[in-house]
Amino acid sequence: MPIADAAKKQIAQKRRLFFKVCMRCGRKNSIEALRCRECHSDDLRLKNRALGVKK
Ligand SMILES: [Zn+2]
Repeated sequence: MPIADAAKKQIAQKRRLFFKVCMRCGRKNSIEALRCRECHSDDLRLKNRALGVKK
């Protein structure tokens, strides 16, 4: 089912593409996160794909 609301669609795409991954345990964290939710490590790498949105 296509998402009619363009604003909601943009949020959904951001959620899917912009996040950080913990280097220690591999947990996905929010883009604003400074520490890992799982192990509280600050060793996070950025998973930041601006292009290449899959349909
Ligand atoms: Zn972690």
